[in-house]
Amino acid sequence: MRRAAIIILLLAGGCASDPVRDPLADAEASFLAFLDAANAAGAIESGLYAEYEGRDLRAWQALEQQHRAELGARLDAVDAASLNAEQANALTAMRRTFGDYAEETAPGAAAPTCADASNPDAGFAALTGALAACFRELGNQMPFEGGTISRGTALQLLHDIDEPERRKAVFDAFTPLWQALNGNNEPDSPYRRAIRLAAEDAKTGGSYIDQAAQALGVTHADIERWLVEMLEAWRVANDPRPIEPWDFRHSIGAANRLLAERIPPEALLPLNQRYYLDLGADLQALGVVHDLAERPDKSPLAYCDFLVRGRYETDGSWRPTIARIVGAYPQGGLFSMNELVHENGHAVHISAIRNRPAFTDWPDTLFTEAFADVPAWSVYEPEWQQKYLGTAIDARTSLRAQFGGVILDVAWSLFELRMLRDPALDPNAVWTDITSHYLHIKPHPDVPWWAMRVQLGGNPGYMIHYGLGAVLTAEIRQRTAELIGPMDAGNPQWYAWSSEQLLRFGSERDTRRLMQDLLGRAPDSAAVLAQMRRMDGAGSD
Ligand SMILES: [Zn+2]
Repeated sequence: MRRAAIIILLLAGGCASDPVRDPLADAEASFLAFLDAANAAGAIESGLYAEYEGRDLRAWQALEQQHRAELGARLDAVDAASLNAEQANALTAMRRTFGDYAEETAPGAAAPTCADASNPDAGFAALTGALAACFRELGNQMPFEGGTISRGTALQLLHDIDEPERRKAVFDAFTPLWQALNGNNEPDSPYRRAIRLAAEDAKTGGSYIDQAAQALGVTHADIERWLVEMLEAWRVANDPRPIEPWDFRHSIGAANRLLAERIPPEALLPLNQRYYLDLGADLQALGVVHDLAERPDKSPLAYCDFLVRGRYETDGSWRPTIARIVGAYPQGGLFSMNELVHENGHAVHISAIRNRPAFTDWPDTLFTEAFADVPAWSVYEPEWQQKYLGTAIDARTSLRAQFGGVILDVAWSLFELRMLRDPALDPNAVWTDITSHYLHIKPHPDVPWWAMRVQLGGNPGYMIHYGLGAVLTAEIRQRTAELIGPMDAGNPQWYAWSSEQLLRFGSERDTRRLMQDLLGRAPDSAAVLAQMRRMDGAGSD
């Protein structure tokens, strides 16, 4: 790609003083040096390494600061008017990636605490930072059965515990967190102040929902309609008898409980490796780093990040990207299997990028999250279970586990879309309206049980990436099967084909372009609705 870019530049006349030299070459060299330092520091900060490539955290952070200043200066020095279209796109992509890192690692300001959420004068960043801190401070020690549990454990227990009264106790363990976010549901509760500020902020910067709409080239009305269609598909496919909110996850968790013995924790990684190998992606050969051991200081959220960014060497060969996955799966089970395959979907994605340095980054979050679910959804299919677990459970039970998780994300997406559109609404009433009608959950308008995800407090609007992503995941899976055949029990063409069609561009192409080229049309909800309709009559449980 880089060589091709140089040839095009020569043909176009290029830069007057030095026709062979790309005007972004210096900035791109700084860009990679900065990201190498930031990514190495990130790996050490995660607790995985004491040092990396002979440098400790302090040394990498010093390099990061040095290259941050150099990169900032070089980006500022680029004469944007002299760039061709691809170079202008590359400059924009570098600025976007650099901006992401600036926000994440800006030094100086004291970390917000949950107590800051009660300050009525807190601005948007301070208030959402405080609400995220509430999830850390209160969510990591929720009172349950004489001890404490973390929020993540609580969500898992709601799937697994068979006694309804103990599930109710897990649900009630969220109360201090809910109180911190929503107070007594008054109009100036911390959450309502945050959502008002988010809506205000969106007027200039655009909300995540605006960004998702733009990434897809659709309107808010299109997005809302898709979300409602998915919720409606869930409503008609499932038992209309109302259930308590603390019973919902248990009601979708049967697949997890039925397959628990087949997926002990130590089986997760070998099953994952085997599945990707059957998809044509050798994770070991790609050098994917799996940081799955338990540590006291470990991130409560699973994620995947670059450890080293790939790049073309001067001889034209490609030096590979190394991906790093962080997760902890002490329980095993289908839910963990799905998440591990999802994180490895991110790893094979970034490992497939072959592009100039400016584009060696994630594309839109919407596309990124949707793509990782393309292989991850397979674990719910009978073909996958039969081949990798030696048994397959009833498809309807599996689909309830799969889309039960999806539909909660869709419900939160619609909740946020409506709250951002009209921040004067009562969040409890909005949530009760959505969950009672579509999910058949008994109304508890006095309980702010929507406040279970960190993003709702820390990043208002972010849930759209998950809720809307299902539309794209279903489209990609359907089109892939049409063109290269099914992938649920492996498909040796899958990785090379997906890399060529979707992954190699990195941050160069947006969601709209990738989907248009794949589908030959704009995406719509038909594929995901067809999948959800499989819940209607596919056997009984
Ligand atoms: Zn993800």
